[in-house]
Amino acid sequence: MTVLEAHYDQALHDEIRTLAKARNAVILAHNYERPEIQDVADFVGDSLGLSREAARTDADVIVFCGVHFMAETAAILSPRKTVLLPDMAAGCSLASTINAEQLREWKASYPGAVVVSYVNTTAAVKAESDYCCTSGNAVEVIESIPPETTILFCPDMFLGAHVKRVTGRENIVVWMGECHVHAGIDPEHIELMRERHPGAEFTSVLDAVSSGAVSSRRLQVLSTEGMIRRPAQSEADEFIVATEIGILHRLRRENPGKVFHAANDRASCAYMKVTTLPKVLRSLEHMEHRITVPADVAAKAKRAIDRMVAIGGSQPKPQLSPAPDPAVDPGE
Ligand code: SF4
Repeated sequence: MTVLEAHYDQALHDEIRTLAKARNAVILAHNYERPEIQDVADFVGDSLGLSREAARTDADVIVFCGVHFMAETAAILSPRKTVLLPDMAAGCSLASTINAEQLREWKASYPGAVVVSYVNTTAAVKAESDYCCTSGNAVEVIESIPPETTILFCPDMFLGAHVKRVTGRENIVVWMGECHVHAGIDPEHIELMRERHPGAEFTSVLDAVSSGAVSSRRLQVLSTEGMIRRPAQSEADEFIVATEIGILHRLRRENPGKVFHAANDRASCAYMKVTTLPKVLRSLEHMEHRITVPADVAAKAKRAIDRMVAIGGSQPKPQLSPAPDPAVDPGE
């Protein structure tokens, strides 16, 4: 059984919903979570969308079905709420490529530089950053910084390389971190799937497309939420989706008449899949595991997060091809 085949348990699902109501808890699930976790959640979305939901909810408790850095962001944005992560093993290989000490050392080598961190970073790294960004607003964040200012971009080397190419700025220094999941969706997989499904609309990993390694035929780069909206706007009935496979559940659920193929069906984030229904129930029963961020770190990190939320990114837009018939993503 693959992770995309749901482990449904209606009794467990109902128990979770009942307890969530009793606790005045909201359950947030990332697009990459298991199908049954997405289905038990109140909201499903990308990290920015879930952060916004965490900030605006009037629930007392947030059960965050995602990875640790996302729960930290929720705790920073909602300091008076109880934020729970059902499994502390929900880490992130990309976020773990840089810690606060490494960032401080890097900054010391570039006096006067501004630090832009992708949202996939720990709260401590965000606290050392001037701006956070998502894949949806990274270019806009970079363009808001004076052209003569050196920028240290971390930790995603693919997104860093992309913003460098798109903005044409040479004074961006990129940290060499990568997500093992997105790195595994290579041009060979994509071209193979396009050959197998020649009529399908294509959604591609950003770096392969941006670098020209994959044809931009019938293609545009979208944020994750843009990718979710795309099928309803497209006349195509079939799509190749080149991102983490958890997103296929939401695409299929919201577009029952359309067919979706994974560009690489092994592109699964193990960290996102550690959260299961029994763990969510246990989390609500025992109010565990509480995610907190020290006040001084939270205050500094919030400054960078607020800038991220304030700068663009709300409307994903085509970046590579004006063609009317594509779909794409890399981000979370
Ligand atoms: S898909 Fe990659 S970047 Fe996203 S949570 Fe998993 S390891 Fe981290």
